[in-house]
Amino acid sequence: MTLSETTIELLDFIKQNPNPTLLDSDLLAHTYQNLIDTLIEHNHLYYIESSPIISDYEYDQLFSYLKNIEEIAPHLITSNSPTQSLIGQISEGFAKANHRTPLLSLENSYNAQDLTNRDTRIKKILEKSDQNCSFFYRLEPKFDGISCEIIYQNGLLTQAITRGDGKTGEDITINVKTIKSLPKKLTQPINIRLRGEIMMPKSQLSALNLSREALGLNSFANTRNAASGSIKLLDSAEVEKRSLICFIYDILESDTNQTIKEIGLPTFDLPEKFQHFDNIQSVIDTCLNPELKDFLDEQDFDFDGLVIKITDKNLPNGKDQTSIRTLLGATEHHPRRAIAYKFPAQQIAAKISSIDFQVGRTGILTPVANLEPVNLSGVTISRVSLHNFDFIKEKGILNGDFVRIQRSGEVIPYVLSAIPSRRNGTESEIFPPKLCPSCQTPIISQDIHYYCKNPDCPAQLKEKLLYFVSRDALDIAGFGDSIIQLLMEQNLLNSFADFYTLTKVENQILLRKLPSFGDKKISELISQIELSKTKPLRRLLNAIGIPNIGKKTAQDLSTYLAQKKVTNLTSLINELKNTEQLGAIYGIGDKVATDISAFFSSPKILDLLYKLENFGLNFSAVEDQKSNTEQNQNSLSFSITGTFPLSRTEIANQLIAQGYQFDENPIQTTSFMLIGEKAGSKVDKAQKYNIKTYNNREEIVKTFNIKLPEPQNKKTPTPIQGGLF
Ligand SMILES: [Zn+2]
Repeated sequence: MTLSETTIELLDFIKQNPNPTLLDSDLLAHTYQNLIDTLIEHNHLYYIESSPIISDYEYDQLFSYLKNIEEIAPHLITSNSPTQSLIGQISEGFAKANHRTPLLSLENSYNAQDLTNRDTRIKKILEKSDQNCSFFYRLEPKFDGISCEIIYQNGLLTQAITRGDGKTGEDITINVKTIKSLPKKLTQPINIRLRGEIMMPKSQLSALNLSREALGLNSFANTRNAASGSIKLLDSAEVEKRSLICFIYDILESDTNQTIKEIGLPTFDLPEKFQHFDNIQSVIDTCLNPELKDFLDEQDFDFDGLVIKITDKNLPNGKDQTSIRTLLGATEHHPRRAIAYKFPAQQIAAKISSIDFQVGRTGILTPVANLEPVNLSGVTISRVSLHNFDFIKEKGILNGDFVRIQRSGEVIPYVLSAIPSRRNGTESEIFPPKLCPSCQTPIISQDIHYYCKNPDCPAQLKEKLLYFVSRDALDIAGFGDSIIQLLMEQNLLNSFADFYTLTKVENQILLRKLPSFGDKKISELISQIELSKTKPLRRLLNAIGIPNIGKKTAQDLSTYLAQKKVTNLTSLINELKNTEQLGAIYGIGDKVATDISAFFSSPKILDLLYKLENFGLNFSAVEDQKSNTEQNQNSLSFSITGTFPLSRTEIANQLIAQGYQFDENPIQTTSFMLIGEKAGSKVDKAQKYNIKTYNNREEIVKTFNIKLPEPQNKKTPTPIQGGLF
């Protein structure tokens, strides 16, 4: 299944099973893992590739369901769950840099009810506290750009760091210095850490996309993607040409009492009448006020909502809000002091002109609607997936219908509904094709899907080959859609094994004759192919297309095979044919076990696998584990629990600076744990996982060469939970 199919299935599932407590334990565990895998992929698309395919609203639905499962079944929680760390990832190319105060993200709300509920919760917290704190609501625009930390030392712009995962981001100082609206030098020699948003003006995006199209490059879907793509260019002269802008909206740390505006930094305020309110109803009315939306639409940069900040009445005007920030605190992900109200997504009607059927790597047919092109927030839309025939039936979509399409910001557009009122009688029902559009084999119906079951179907083969080289599988760079298509047409690529014959001299000669295949490209492809032979078994198991096996199960199988000390293909096949044993592996049900066993019993597949082994691909699970251990030795990881004379964050930062990895929660691979006073349940976990522990101050100082003050008798103040606001 593709990511978008899995996502839609999960969203449907959540809709039908809003209450996870009613799920049986197997289904719960399965759904949980599925959610994690899916969210990790979406995080990657959002943070690394800057090309998300779902709306924030859908993302939040998946995420909160994951959180619900973890609440009712904490034993399921795994370290790679997106709830276990701030969301976000780091890409290659820039040096990493730590945020001294974590940059949290805001919790999103989408309607008046969300805002009212939130308001009630905050009031309860404030009532419980003894402090007599009176507050008002301050409304600010929510910029749709790239969030980052900007640091001035002695009045000089010294560093800029992307948000990254909230704790660690990328050092983009050199590129941020090209932003003209951001002063390189302040009028006073102050030290200040700020949070700001880097954006591309709308007018700049249109110009940039025109010139990109002229060069045959993909245009950027929106200003946020364009800003993200631009600020991470490695050539800062090129960044300067992109005319990015930056607004500052929060002070993280400062040695002055001045406001952002007084310091002379670029800010953007809403008109006075939309700024301050003393009750939530006025806030809601303003959020829904079309006059405010119009005002924001007229600006030359994008907003995706509004931010509502609880502000202490005694400290207005953007002064330090430490007191109320401390009082309301933060959850692991979000500061409680502020909430984002997200604008509803944009919609448009479009006419279906025809229907295509795409064949996936498992033979599933996906109906795709070709549209009469429409423009939605600057992007032309001419195709949209209809997912499957149940979807078409449920939405009552006919060929020739007008459909309502939605996209919020950057996501791939999707169909919300048909618009029956616009029918003129020429529309027709959409039927699955009788024959596969690629190989003309009769189509078979099974569950909600229609399949081409021809094992030699060229469309399926192409998708299988694309998956084999994909990032999650053997990660063979350089083989895109068009190259694989070309090599298939040239009869050079008909199975996985053919990748490894491309390196033969006679085939290299053939490759050289193809358009756009220079010596350099061929040698790059060949070195990538050679490299793929050394990839760990879990990747290979994911790559070869075992039915119903994804990344996670491939990993589980690989771990299992390592326990069985499997070092070659023959012993691997013997283990994986045994359905009884497979069924005992956690997370693998009877059906999957049967599928795996059938796969490794097929003579045709075995023939292919032995070919791969002869080409030198790695079928040893033991090797796989060994390389894991080697990796871990290079990057020992640690966890911290209890209280120390220094905040845990500061201790962690000292260790991270020495190259250790930080595990927020101890996991099986955690190398050691520092234990302070009043340690909690993490100590039990350390025992469970047999993690080496250190609880003696002198020993810790000596072993890790870190600065740890002598404990003091008087109570040290609790460090403020790092916050945005
Ligand atoms: Zn076919």
